[in-house]
Amino acid sequence: MTQAVESVEKRESSEAAGEALAAFIKRYPKLWVITGAGVSTDSGIPDYRDADGQWKRPPPVQHGDFMSSFAVRQRYWARALVGFKAMREAQVSGAHRALAKLEAMGHVELLVTQNVDRLHQRAGSKKVIDLHGRADVVACMACGYQMMRHAMHSEMARMNPAFAALDARHAPDGDADLEADFSTFNVLDCPRCKGILKPQVVYYGDVVPPARRLAAQSALQQADAVLAVGTSLMVYSGYRFCRDAHAMGLPVASLSLGVTRADGFLTHQWRAPLTPVLEYAVGRLKKG
Ligand SMILES: [Zn+2]
Repeated sequence: MTQAVESVEKRESSEAAGEALAAFIKRYPKLWVITGAGVSTDSGIPDYRDADGQWKRPPPVQHGDFMSSFAVRQRYWARALVGFKAMREAQVSGAHRALAKLEAMGHVELLVTQNVDRLHQRAGSKKVIDLHGRADVVACMACGYQMMRHAMHSEMARMNPAFAALDARHAPDGDADLEADFSTFNVLDCPRCKGILKPQVVYYGDVVPPARRLAAQSALQQADAVLAVGTSLMVYSGYRFCRDAHAMGLPVASLSLGVTRADGFLTHQWRAPLTPVLEYAVGRLKKG
């Protein structure tokens, strides 16, 4: 109980945090931004971690398990038929829109997102790297054939009418809290070579493609500072950039409700709700 009280007290008013963020951007006008699940929770997409950065639900599927086990893939796709609706129906949030405005104002050198929902692009951000890929496209792991996720889901709903009729609480990454006997679920194979189809997402246990990592890394050279938004930075592939930026002598700031893995070297930290703080800062910068 004591901990909960302390973390509430540490939170700042949106106005004070927005004022401080605007001052930060005036001082460091070219930002290298990294975002995480927190920017999409207002869009109705659940996240995995609590304010202390701990798992609040079972961790997601591991790359090796997905590739090696047919039963894991049956469970994955059966649950996705239910849970992916949350991602498909998600709308951009005020946080997405404010970050797109910051880019339009010339303040974003690059936006690296750990989210796979493409909501930054839908909000109008153009300089975006989807660090962990995109959930709306699937690809064959053998021949590279690609198809849209919704087309694959439609086909599997047709192949599995009993499963398509189920409903359950939506979970992160297009998953759902559905428990059933998945052994009768029919998984769609690659239409070209019968290989394994997998979302174009970097799962836990897999690595970010080197070209993507290097593009994100090299943009740090052109930036004045790093701003992490709505991310605990618990995943190493995102955390490493902040660590590198710190080693380069760049200021590293965080706007998030919870703790981050980079707390030890953050130069600025605002523990406050994202959308009002970002909107306030954008308004403040427009006034000059
Ligand atoms: Zn194939």
